[in-house]
Amino acid sequence: MAVEQRVKELHHFINGEQVEGSSGRYSNVYNPSTGEVIAQVPLATRDEVKHAIEVAKKAFPAWKKLSSGKRAEIVLKFRQLLKENEEELIEVICQESGKTKEDARGEITRGLESVDLAINASHLLKGEYSVNVGGNINAFSTKSPLGVVAAISPFNFPVMVPLAITSMAVAVGNSVILKPSEKVPMSALYFSELWKKAGLPDGVWTVINGDKEAVDELLENPTIEAISFVGSTPVAEYIYQTGTNYNKRVAAFGGGKNFMIVMPDADLEKTANAFIGAAYGAASQRCMAISGAMAVGKETADKFVAILKEKIENLKVGPYTDNEVDFGPVITMQSKEAVIKAINKGVEEGAKLVVDGRNPSICEVSNGFYLGPTLLDEVKPSMEIYEQEVFGPARIVVRVESLQEAIDLINDHELGNGVTIFTNNGAAARKFQEEIEVGMVGVNVPIPIPVGYHNFGGWKRSKFGEGFMFGPDQARFFTKSKTISEKWIDVDDETTTTFAFPSN
Ligand code: NAD
Repeated sequence: MAVEQRVKELHHFINGEQVEGSSGRYSNVYNPSTGEVIAQVPLATRDEVKHAIEVAKKAFPAWKKLSSGKRAEIVLKFRQLLKENEEELIEVICQESGKTKEDARGEITRGLESVDLAINASHLLKGEYSVNVGGNINAFSTKSPLGVVAAISPFNFPVMVPLAITSMAVAVGNSVILKPSEKVPMSALYFSELWKKAGLPDGVWTVINGDKEAVDELLENPTIEAISFVGSTPVAEYIYQTGTNYNKRVAAFGGGKNFMIVMPDADLEKTANAFIGAAYGAASQRCMAISGAMAVGKETADKFVAILKEKIENLKVGPYTDNEVDFGPVITMQSKEAVIKAINKGVEEGAKLVVDGRNPSICEVSNGFYLGPTLLDEVKPSMEIYEQEVFGPARIVVRVESLQEAIDLINDHELGNGVTIFTNNGAAARKFQEEIEVGMVGVNVPIPIPVGYHNFGGWKRSKFGEGFMFGPDQARFFTKSKTISEKWIDVDDETTTTFAFPSN
């Protein structure tokens, strides 16, 4: 008789400790590399979220009052602990997301950039000061934390995105509630313990696990002042519309369709290497992954596709336990099915299948959610696979006649997260930078994700609301400004009552 294997039951992190869920509702957490259920995550009720919000609210005044230097010491300690525990954290990321170890290490490194900026938050909290704006009055502005703020994160970066959307919020003095993706909750729970160890007062940091029910409480609860969301475009739009309807500050980041324009003068061998890493890395499950190439001219397209074909056929897909693999599985079986459906539809609509990754042979046989790399050529803008974000390793080639045609097509696309051009022609690069309607732009850089001290955010339906996912603007997003006009009246000063509107 088969013995039922018990899986780990995960908790919430409230008031500085792990708290059992009480809803009785759970979601399975998979190891995508093996297909096994490795844990069950509780899905919070609205009452559980309300309780977490109350705890966070109580912790806020003391955290706000602490000097920014003292808060920075705690954030710095947290950073040190992340680094000291990096190997364990990599293992947790890999287990629940399926990404390779080096990719997980890269995500931690990029996440640390946001922590680094947060350590220096004092610099970004400086206000403005004007002397004698009129009648011996000095005017100055200050920045205060908002109160309790929420962050909602996607599955594809279990550490980098949560760090990116919360570190500054904590550092500038808010209490922060993170609702991680229910598909990858273990990484956030892991680093919650590091916040505790770093000395963050209980209640300032909360992880509430859940699905739409928990999110809806965060969106509607009057105590929540701001929401930073990262995920798919339809959910981002919902979060923005609902959150702002409840008078919250909302920055909601959605999906991407990120093209690489390949100019006739580009070194096609080097461009192909850049394309493949950026397009298929992490099984293409990056919001900034290259979704496809726009090759300018028939000759460029023919040569580029031929080079890509040969290289793509040699990529190795497998579990993170094998250090030789280029990328791992996609996150769930449903995700795998969605990618296969998108490929099938592309073929049905007339795209040419150059490399077919629908049935990869993985040597370490398992029930993992693997897909090989797929490349579709001669994709037209009217096809579904052109219009929609495909979150898995199916990439496309679109053939265009000119740089202008490529720019126009990209500008017409509803998504505008990232884009890049590969060329040695300065005039073409300059035209592209000036005319392209996309938030993050690369020139001979395949994934133009800004460094942590620049603002990250797409345009069009890749971002709803003002504010950026990370970067200096976050200090503004997570604070409110107050402008003070101050005058000290000397005993000898003469004063009169005036009914005219005061002016300088
Ligand atoms: P998702 O939208 O399914 O989920 C994101 C979060 O929203 C999760 O925490 C989830 O629990 C919650 N959620 C899901 N459905 C909801 C609903 N109906 N109501 C309320 N909350 C809901 O996204 P995902 O599949 O986890 O992540 C992949 C997507 O995220 C891709 O589209 C990718 O491009 C995007 N993404 C964008 C960026 C960016 O910078 N713009 C970065 C990373 C990921």
